Amino acid sequence: MELKDLLPIPDLAGCKKLLCIQPHPDDNEIGAGATIAKLAQSGCHITYLTVTDGALGTLDPAVDPGELALTRKKEAEESAKLLGVSSALYLDYPDGSYPNEQELTSRILTVIREEQPEMVMTVDPFLPYEAHPDHRRVGMAAAVACLFSSFPHYRSYGDPNPSKQWEVKGIAFYNTAYPNTFIDADDTWDLKIRSIAVHRSQFDEETLAKYKGYFDFKAAQYAAGRGFAYAEAFKVLAPLHLHVNVDTIHA
Ligand SMILES: [Zn+2]
Repeated sequence: MELKDLLPIPDLAGCKKLLCIQPHPDDNEIGAGATIAKLAQSGCHITYLTVTDGALGTLDPAVDPGELALTRKKEAEESAKLLGVSSALYLDYPDGSYPNEQELTSRILTVIREEQPEMVMTVDPFLPYEAHPDHRRVGMAAAVACLFSSFPHYRSYGDPNPSKQWEVKGIAFYNTAYPNTFIDADDTWDLKIRSIAVHRSQFDEETLAKYKGYFDFKAAQYAAGRGFAYAEAFKVLAPLHLHVNVDTIHA
């Protein structure tokens, strides 16, 4: 008997309502842009939730962080629109800040209960060697929120009363070292690359060309032997996989 016989892996490809939670205003496109576009084209309703303002995303000391945050929000809007995302929400935490873990979880949980997604997508907080605190914290807060969104006494943000419940069917982690789901990205790969190019403050032509080589290589590697040329990889889990489950790493 395998874990998947007891707890099946949720079907990301068939998802009809998705909440994509990103630490910074380009993570969703880099990690999952082709899948997001493909789902949108198949009629999935997709909402973005961006946690930080991305104000630290520059190597140029002359760039004003406040102005960069405004630029990045515009880029995020444009990029989401290109992929067919229905709506975009922002928590506007300062980039690289350390929001109280419980507060961050509670705010994400509140959005989950309001938006009522079938599935949540975010960065994998269990990626070995991930040093960026925003990625570790946002991925973990999203996982915790998925675990508890159906528990009424786990309160929504700022609400002293038991809160309305919402059960998320699954969470899909991108940037994962333990993928169990590979999405055919052939038809939307170009769109993904174009959506990344929209983030002009992060990718000039030369930088994008360099990264594209790596993205293409990884997508071909994920797709090998599956009958398509490009794939995006995810670790997809049900909330029950996220607690006291010694086999989840192999799920
Ligand atoms: Zn990021």
